[in-house]
Amino acid sequence: MHETYRIQPGSKLRLGDIPSNDDAGLNRDDAEKEFKQLSKRLVDLQEILYAQKKHSLLVVLQAMDTAGKDSTIRSVFSPLDQLACHALSFKAPSQEERDHDFLWRVHQRTPAKGFIHIFNRSHYEDVLVVRVKNLVPKEVWKARYDHINAFEKMLADEGTTIVKFYLHISKGYQKERLQRRLDNADKHWKFNPDDLKERAVWDDYMAAYDDVLERCSTKHAPWYVIPAEKRWFRDLLVARIMVATLESLDMKYPDPAFDPRSIVIE
Ligand code: AMP
Ligand code: MG
Repeated sequence: MHETYRIQPGSKLRLGDIPSNDDAGLNRDDAEKEFKQLSKRLVDLQEILYAQKKHSLLVVLQAMDTAGKDSTIRSVFSPLDQLACHALSFKAPSQEERDHDFLWRVHQRTPAKGFIHIFNRSHYEDVLVVRVKNLVPKEVWKARYDHINAFEKMLADEGTTIVKFYLHISKGYQKERLQRRLDNADKHWKFNPDDLKERAVWDDYMAAYDDVLERCSTKHAPWYVIPAEKRWFRDLLVARIMVATLESLDMKYPDPAFDPRSIVIE
């Protein structure tokens, strides 16, 4: 079922035409039960990934503000062993980072074999916020789609499995979430008046996302568009895709380099 949400390479799409409150007709209780099972399965699969040290896994999370990147990380990834699973946030680049090519800071943070890294924002900001706000000339950001595809292909060829999630919400839903942040004193820390500037150019962001999804969903690094307004459905879908992705690696615990039966512990 989750394959429906995978963007086929080369497809044309408009996010505005894709429902963001979809739940595939599932029942919330059933979904939550299934999520718990998937969560256990994910923990088991992660242990094999870590033990085998053959593959690494890179998860890219992109979304507009309030779509739930942080809460997806908390619900889907926090049960994993934190020794081998790291969430990394990409903020506006420092001066040193801007003095390098856009992938410089990204490559330093890709996962080693056995590890899972979750990118909370990513190199895709360099064709999203950078494009919408004209932070570099058009000819520079335009060339980046090809650079991103080549970079991700190289990572995949070298043993990194890549999965990318766009958490899809509508502009109306974002308004509700932002209002909640204003109405609730405990949530003020999450509100940044600058987020309203991004909201004001919502359509420009959607156009930029359309291009990302059309140009950078590849066989080795697919994009999934996750309807994210029902959190239980969002979590279920992300968990299903994570489990399916790890299962497809056909991993196994490594054979010991010794014969356990021949060893006597005094
Ligand atoms: P947040 O994730 O809400 O804490 O905000 C991080 C901010 O950093 C967002 O406004 C991003 O758009 C911004 N950001 C992330 N990467 C880049 C980048 N490569 N260039 C410019 N701004 C960026
Ligand atoms: Mg923000």
